[in-house]
Amino acid sequence: MAILTLLGIAQDGGRPQPGCTRSCCEGLTEADYRSPVSLSIQTNNGTTLLIEATRDLGRQLRMIGNPSIDHLFITHAHLGHVDGLGLFGRETMSARNIQLHCSPSMYSLIERTPAWNQLLLQNVLEFGTFPRTEIDDVIVEFIHIPHRAELSDMHAIIIRGREKSLLFLPDHDTWNETLVAHSCNTIRAFLSKHNIDIALLDGTFWSGGELQGRDMSVVPHPTIEDSLQRLGSRKQTDPDISFIHLNHTNPAYDQTGIEHQELVQLGWRLGEEGQSFNL
Ligand SMILES: [Zn+2]
Ligand SMILES: [Zn+2]
Ligand SMILES: [Zn+2]
Repeated sequence: MAILTLLGIAQDGGRPQPGCTRSCCEGLTEADYRSPVSLSIQTNNGTTLLIEATRDLGRQLRMIGNPSIDHLFITHAHLGHVDGLGLFGRETMSARNIQLHCSPSMYSLIERTPAWNQLLLQNVLEFGTFPRTEIDDVIVEFIHIPHRAELSDMHAIIIRGREKSLLFLPDHDTWNETLVAHSCNTIRAFLSKHNIDIALLDGTFWSGGELQGRDMSVVPHPTIEDSLQRLGSRKQTDPDISFIHLNHTNPAYDQTGIEHQELVQLGWRLGEEGQSFNL
């Protein structure tokens, strides 16, 4: 059996977010800190896979007893998903021969970025397979997802174990674009088409207007409100859905707030750091 552990539930900036002096970040204690999204997978043979390389890598690896990483999977090049890449290099972990699985567009960006290219030249990272990799008792698949692509394209990742499959979809622009790209009309049809039992979905913002004074169309994400409207309440046959990648402004962080309660009452969940899933 493969064991997955959710190592971060925050959007790229983390929680608290640097520079934020508003109530969402002021006065948070260490217990309230959340790392950018990341997921680890331990296979039945003890191979460790990691999805995303965040700047909180040290904190995140401690959650799972600091194993060495054998395979690294990257969804796309936005800040919080890649800013810990250098930590695998000589200045810190001195890792060797980590198989890096990512799209050709992401790989080409790594080759063209001098600080990251060093990791290839020094055999810290080696290019692995894409879009499908079989490792021990898991199969990892990349599926293309429409998302603003200034630096690289974006792929969600599906991890298939012997019994269950989990979808990791931290970022996308809109449900309409994602559903059209996968020829589906509803979120349920999309999850069913890919045979998903557990879904970790983009929950960056709760609602529109959350970024006071900033144009949200610059950083488009479907809001949790939109996702809940599309989903309604959970039916017995539905997959287990948790929202992740929360922006620091997202009111759902507050477990006593009405937003969090509404989410739970409908039968869905907020991802929790340290939460594990058996596949
Ligand atoms: Zn992100
Ligand atoms: Zn804040
Ligand atoms: Zn992104």
